[in-house]
Amino acid sequence: MIKKYIFITGGVVSSLGKGITAAALAAILEARELNVTIIKLDPYINIDPGTISPVQHGEVFVTEDGAETDLDLGHYERFIRTKMSRRNNFTTGQIYSDVLRKERCGDYLGATVQVIPHITNTIKDYIVEGGHGHDIVLVEIGGTVGDIESLPFLESIRQMAVEVGREHTLYIHLTLLPYIATSGEVKTKPTQHSVKELLSIGIQPDVLICRSNHSISNNERAKISLFCNVLEKAVISLKDVDSIYKIPVLLKAQGVDDYICKKLGLKCPEANLCEWERVIYQQANPVGEVTIGMVGKYIALPDAYRSVIEALKHAGLKNRLTVNIRLIDSEDIEIRGVKILKDLEAILIPGGFGYRGVEGKIMSAKYAREQKIPYLGICLGMQVALIEFARHVAGMQDANSTEFVSNCKYPVVALIKEWQDEAGNITKMRSKKSDLGGTMRLGSHLCHLVRDSIAQLLYGKITILERHRHRYEVNNMFLKELESAGLRVAGFSQDTNLVEIIEYPDHPWFIASQFHPEFNSTPRDSHPLFSGFIKSANNYQKSRNKKQKNRA
Ligand code: GLN
Repeated sequence: MIKKYIFITGGVVSSLGKGITAAALAAILEARELNVTIIKLDPYINIDPGTISPVQHGEVFVTEDGAETDLDLGHYERFIRTKMSRRNNFTTGQIYSDVLRKERCGDYLGATVQVIPHITNTIKDYIVEGGHGHDIVLVEIGGTVGDIESLPFLESIRQMAVEVGREHTLYIHLTLLPYIATSGEVKTKPTQHSVKELLSIGIQPDVLICRSNHSISNNERAKISLFCNVLEKAVISLKDVDSIYKIPVLLKAQGVDDYICKKLGLKCPEANLCEWERVIYQQANPVGEVTIGMVGKYIALPDAYRSVIEALKHAGLKNRLTVNIRLIDSEDIEIRGVKILKDLEAILIPGGFGYRGVEGKIMSAKYAREQKIPYLGICLGMQVALIEFARHVAGMQDANSTEFVSNCKYPVVALIKEWQDEAGNITKMRSKKSDLGGTMRLGSHLCHLVRDSIAQLLYGKITILERHRHRYEVNNMFLKELESAGLRVAGFSQDTNLVEIIEYPDHPWFIASQFHPEFNSTPRDSHPLFSGFIKSANNYQKSRNKKQKNRA
């Protein structure tokens, strides 16, 4: 089959949900038995988002092969079965650094190196390479049409139609139709301008997907069609929805996939969206609800914890429970105390970097352990639990991570280099500062679970593959002491014998992992650790209610 490219651009304003729309479209095409992948092009100069603050960029999504990528790749993996890799996301920074490297090597000897053709050719090469092995390649262009930064990307995708054939390419433009309450109508003018901008680059969109908080009338559809040169049936309305997982069904209902397939000459069966219909059904028919507290630093920015939040929702679907997520500022706990954790039915501490707010997280882990509230710790959430346990149960008063206090008395979390010699033997602690760039343990690693541990029973298998993004590890020097104080290590890394999961046998549900399970959770499957966590929150709620009833 000849490879087809579907390019997705965005206009009018940013944050329209281009990533989710691309992912939802890909989900429908996958349900038509097509072999799909999605590539995200980011117009910024950073090589990857790994060094950008979550405040600016949201979470960093880690792929199996250890790339630090845009959070949209998380949406892609939650909507389609194809796994993303470092080839599915590239930035202007990567393109320029590649071109400059080649220039120094003399690859362009004799030529003046320019945006066109050198940068645009490299962009096209990356797109082709990213789409290798797939029949349909959706390409999402970051930013908004009209930005200076995304011009080379737009120029490249324009050229691709000439090179691979217009009949093998399709352009989708996502826009906003603002609703003006005083006149009671949605406005089409910004969309017309945005399409005009695209046309000036040489791109005529085939499909317009119009975001709005109101449905568009036939009149408005006809107007958009006329002014933007797009068939009426290819003007698709995307009304705000309460769940992103409704979007595949919503788009299919307007026949967008039929139109795309016809336009690209694709012969494939109708989309069977029964799995997505099941997700919608589960969401609409919960049998109860639980309230989870997520203790972190970026409470006003849910995108900083996007995959964790989605994974909690997926576990809710699996357990048929609505999951209410309360984002709690760990610094607030330091000021006001753990009383603000009262009423929660479970506590989750996600990953994080830096000392700010860490003591509040340690206080939360202590509260969960002592009050026997279900606890799920992820990465830093595991490290703080371990520090807490060392300090308050194992009698190591000043226990800490060398990330926060480099010369603490009990460095129960530290860099491997600080407690291992080159041969891998445990040595005396020595200060060994390492660089902050390129020194993380990233991507999927095999982990062996300890038979009959809670984690092993949840996973239902012995060997698991989970993704990492951290620099610090549990310090094996203190392991024996911590274990004899009651800590159970439920999983070790296969290659390096590092602690991957801890749990407390005398607690109803206290599990913390060095890896990030949220990156492997999908709405159709959920993740065993998250499902178990939400189930335990429900059990906690039931037994608490029973106790309260008995007391009354
Ligand atoms: N800051 C910790 C480390 O580097 C934890 C990282 C994380 O939670 N992702 O090890």
